[in-house]
Amino acid sequence: MPHAVPAHRDPRAALQRGFLGRCPNCGEGRLFRAYLKVADHCPVCGEALHHHRADDAPAYFVILIVGHIVVPLVLAVETAFAPAYWVHLVLWFPLIVGLSLVLLQPVKGAIVGWQWAHFMHGFDPAAVPEDDPFAPRAAERER
Ligand SMILES: [Zn+2]
Repeated sequence: MPHAVPAHRDPRAALQRGFLGRCPNCGEGRLFRAYLKVADHCPVCGEALHHHRADDAPAYFVILIVGHIVVPLVLAVETAFAPAYWVHLVLWFPLIVGLSLVLLQPVKGAIVGWQWAHFMHGFDPAAVPEDDPFAPRAAERER
């Protein structure tokens, strides 16, 4: 069911809702239809969610976060115990893979929520669809 478009969208609430895998608009519908596949529309409020352009940003932020968690731990363990390399491999490889897999969906949801809150891409109801070949370009619309 369609809804009224608010003049302001709360970025913090949208970020939190997206992080929790919920629709940034209503906070109730599921944002994802699969692990990293964003649903086309919210099943509860009908908000179009297919406009997101998360692209590589979730992977970038997950690498940034996991790196800031794991690298200090590796340095601390190496400094304190100087274990063999295989111990490092056994310790850090599962942690890196596990943290990355756990964080990817919430981070992607937060990015989609952020884009929605800031009317980015197609999330602006007043915007001309990006994939419409007959739509006037931005410069043409301003004339
Ligand atoms: Zn919704």
